[in-house]
Amino acid sequence: MPDLHRRRLIACLGAGLAVAVPAIALAEGGSDLGDAAPVRKPKPKAKAKPPAAPAKPAADPHAAAPAGHAAEPSIKPEEALARLMNGNARYVDGYSVHPHGDAPRRLQVSTSQRPFAVILACADSRVAPELIFDQGLGDLFVVRVAGNVVDDAVLASIEYAVIHLGSTLVMALGHERCGAVKATIDALAGRGSPDDAGTRIGALAALITPAVRSVPAGTADALDAAVSLNAAHAAAEVFAGSRPLRARVLAGQLKIVAARYDLDDGRVTPTRTSQA
Ligand SMILES: [Zn+2]
Repeated sequence: MPDLHRRRLIACLGAGLAVAVPAIALAEGGSDLGDAAPVRKPKPKAKAKPPAAPAKPAADPHAAAPAGHAAEPSIKPEEALARLMNGNARYVDGYSVHPHGDAPRRLQVSTSQRPFAVILACADSRVAPELIFDQGLGDLFVVRVAGNVVDDAVLASIEYAVIHLGSTLVMALGHERCGAVKATIDALAGRGSPDDAGTRIGALAALITPAVRSVPAGTADALDAAVSLNAAHAAAEVFAGSRPLRARVLAGQLKIVAARYDLDDGRVTPTRTSQA
């Protein structure tokens, strides 16, 4: 895609992202968990009087679409975002329920999956999506790479989850004190580490550079500003780089948001793009 066209699309997404994050009720209730509610163990089968004809199996909400077919959306994008934020609220408050981690759930998703959200997160060891959103097996399609940047492989992974697994929310998640973003800031300031010579770390920094350069001069906490802008840039890249995903966003079937994770208190805060 020509750079000019891409920039226009990113600017377009900027406006979209500004309104992409509604106020989210964090009040917690048992029904709010939805699919995140712990799975009950199946009752033992009755031995007497088996049914004359085998009962039809219940519809499996996690059933994948037939090969080659696009999956039906799992849940509404707004519901997916609320489910994520409710899980993060439990985590922040110290009331994680660690759903969907038992043997019945493992069996349920052993042959198919319907993750409701895609999380593009940094590879940082302190930013584990299933933990910070209090989700379990089969809930999240997680793509992790240092600096939560978007390249072809990352974008293809996100497209696969949305188109073939039915995910309705994509969150680009930056985090406080991101080492990849800091390394990029240092490299651009001529303070790059000599230990990086001969590595591919420069290629990673090149993907983070646009966000770093878009931080306004004189910003008090340039690193934190760059973290938020980098997540917004990644979200914009997903929108601009994929025509099928763009179509879903414009049709209201998919939401792409950027967010920042606070290492200190564990809170995830949706943010805006630099163009918003
Ligand atoms: Zn990081």
